[in-house]
Amino acid sequence: MKKILILLICILLMGCEDKKSLVSYINQDEALISISYPITNINVLDDKITGYVHQAYNEFKNMSSSDVPELNISYTYKEVNTDIVSVSLQTEIVTDKRVNKIKTFTYNKSNDKFLTMEDIVSDLDALDYDIKKELLIKYQDADMDYLSNISYDYFTVDDENLTIYFNPAEIKSNYDNLIYLDIPLNSMDLLIDVDKSEEEKTYLSIKKKNVSLDDKVVALTFDDGPSKYTNKILDVLKKYDACGTFFVVGNRVNFYKEQLKRTLNEGSEIGNHSYDHKLLTRLSKEEFQSEVNKTQEQIVKATGFTPTLFRPTYGGYTNTLKGYTDLTFVLWDVDSRDWQVKSKDKILKNILPNVKSGSIILMHDGLPYGLNALEDVLSDLKNKGYKFVTVSELLELKKLRES
Ligand code: ZN
Repeated sequence: MKKILILLICILLMGCEDKKSLVSYINQDEALISISYPITNINVLDDKITGYVHQAYNEFKNMSSSDVPELNISYTYKEVNTDIVSVSLQTEIVTDKRVNKIKTFTYNKSNDKFLTMEDIVSDLDALDYDIKKELLIKYQDADMDYLSNISYDYFTVDDENLTIYFNPAEIKSNYDNLIYLDIPLNSMDLLIDVDKSEEEKTYLSIKKKNVSLDDKVVALTFDDGPSKYTNKILDVLKKYDACGTFFVVGNRVNFYKEQLKRTLNEGSEIGNHSYDHKLLTRLSKEEFQSEVNKTQEQIVKATGFTPTLFRPTYGGYTNTLKGYTDLTFVLWDVDSRDWQVKSKDKILKNILPNVKSGSIILMHDGLPYGLNALEDVLSDLKNKGYKFVTVSELLELKKLRES
């Protein structure tokens, strides 16, 4: 049996003013598991979502695999107007083969009804014709029986697009990636109202700090957020006039825009930690680039800031992967193992004796353990004369010192 690290992060992340929240669970014990799904506060919808997730998790637990098995459940959450919300749950299971599945729910709060495509599109026959044409162009060897009987069970909708998903195994058994088509809403007649809201754009950058070449410096990094703990971490950092670098998971960005803006406003940095926390070494070039690029897009959309740093999930990467992006891969030399040891004293023992000038410390956002130790870490290092910098600033200083 392969010796693998144990990572158990169970976080309940509270959302914005409408009380939406996000549940995330990352586990690296005997399997690599990353599950994220939204809590919408619409009971009947949340029951469906959690029911689906539990069922997928239980099915996965009963599977066997010769290599470390992997379960990824990721989501999209979309709003059409103030009444209609749309959720997709994508399940990817990697055992000896890779299987992708999709489940979607679209719900109208005003009449307490789950919506089908017939409730949304007025001329489904015309749409059906266009979709089949499109699929045949893209997937020339698609299963004709399936195409002629598409039931359109899987779709999501927002204020711009209707997205139709197809379970890959149904299109053609050897496709293992999820197939979907985005159809602009303005190209069809709709039976629902669409509320197009323009989001105000903000452009943020990291505030510069006063650090000289001779200073002892250290960079704190926080992975797996943003989360309900992000603001608490920022509170502690502020108290010690410190900053950190937050490697965020793309699918969470939209739920915590305000926290991310605050992160930048207070002199901390945001880095990219993939879109849904899959093990990257198993992905193709295109899949890896999609993980990186989707996260970049989310961060830019939320904050106007373009990250330049990337931290690979589970610390796993290859030189080939590094060549697939312009972002700088950042690992760490001091590991708090906060997710594993949990106790404040052990976290301090893992960090404090091992820090030297130029160190990058790994902690996690989304867990209470590291947060409990953070204040002691900051005060100890500050007393020892360390200045806190972002990873970008640290890399810049290293370059200046070498020149
Ligand atoms: Zn991570």
